[in-house]
Amino acid sequence: MAGSGQPPVAGSMKTSRQMAEELEKGLHAALLDFVREALLSWWRAHGLEYPWRSYRDPWEVLVSEILLRKTNAEKVSSRIGEVLSVLRSPEDVLRLREEDLADLLRPFGMQRIKARQLRGLAQRLAAEGGRIPEDPEALSALPGVGRYIAAAVLCFALGRPAAAVDTNVIRVLTRVFGVKPERSRPRADPYIWKIAELLLPADHPREHSWALLDLGKKVCRPRRPKCSECPLAAVCWWNARRAEGTAGRE
Ligand code: SF4
Repeated sequence: MAGSGQPPVAGSMKTSRQMAEELEKGLHAALLDFVREALLSWWRAHGLEYPWRSYRDPWEVLVSEILLRKTNAEKVSSRIGEVLSVLRSPEDVLRLREEDLADLLRPFGMQRIKARQLRGLAQRLAAEGGRIPEDPEALSALPGVGRYIAAAVLCFALGRPAAAVDTNVIRVLTRVFGVKPERSRPRADPYIWKIAELLLPADHPREHSWALLDLGKKVCRPRRPKCSECPLAAVCWWNARRAEGTAGRE
């Protein structure tokens, strides 16, 4: 139950589509404001620091995000500077033989797949004049990119209000808003993306997105979320159901 001055917890569980429609109509404006503010102040005190969070060059963000796929962030953190000093541009990728590129990427695992993805991406960029597009659809259509990495480039490198939705973010959003995804693969659910977009503030989009990512990683973990340490606990649907002993029954 929310305390005085806090917006009420969302009511019964809804589908992602129902919640996206309600948010769009402005039905939960106070809840959105609370979540935005709580996330930002939590991140300022507890956010994670990674080298790629200081990158403002779209190429550097693209390479970092490809290396981060299915790889421990700490592992990428310790070697990303070394990789970017060799791969400063798509042309640098194309100058290396695929085996040498895979050797360079070996510390991150899945090196052959990642080398192939980077080469495919570099080839397309080189064929199109070397410029990285700033249009979300053109970016997400690049080989090896997709919607999450496109949003990461737009938001983290360029500071645009683009919502970056990964598994951690989906978990936080579905729990806080009491939402059941419309699709069996929640990452492909357009209404989950819509909820993330409606939550994203026009100012501080980077910090807001990093806050959601970090909260999902550190606090709102898949098993045994640390609700007692969570800045969203007072308004979280899942936490309220947990306190009643009904979480997971709907
Ligand atoms: S209160 Fe608990 S379930 Fe809700 S967002 Fe925070 S950690 Fe996740």
